[in-house]
Amino acid sequence: METVQNELNPCIACGACCAFYRASFYWAEADDAGGTVPVELTEKLNDFRRVMRGTNQPKPRCIALVGEIGKHIYCSIYDQRSSVCRDFPVAWENGLPNERCDKARMAWGLPPLPPPTVNPESPDDPTTTTPSPSPTLPRAA
Ligand code: SF4
Ligand code: SF4
Repeated sequence: METVQNELNPCIACGACCAFYRASFYWAEADDAGGTVPVELTEKLNDFRRVMRGTNQPKPRCIALVGEIGKHIYCSIYDQRSSVCRDFPVAWENGLPNERCDKARMAWGLPPLPPPTVNPESPDDPTTTTPSPSPTLPRAA
């Protein structure tokens, strides 16, 4: 069951982007300014932007990321995450590659996600292995 789930949603067995990139966003996305992101999990970057704690350092890892990279992870503030996290597409979501997803995965020793395979029985329906939006993660990060 877990294997099937991971094929459909590779992010739950990855998390690399949440431990590779700086997650910065407009300051008013924090919950002290009417947004959703718990402000105590953020740091000020400048007068206009905040970052998720842990991501603005030489070896980033978001404070909200729980679990082991490449094994099983989830975002502890998934429903409250910032726009930069919501807008980060997993590779091949909507049929498009994402070099930033590939780069983060490779930095953690994980291979880039392969493009979806086309079902020869139904070549117009490549949905068999197309990643679906994550139920618990990340930016996917
Ligand atoms: S978007 Fe890519 S790098 Fe980020 S968790 Fe998903 S598979 Fe991993
Ligand atoms: S998706 Fe969650 S764990 Fe990943 S960077 Fe954003 S807040 Fe952090």
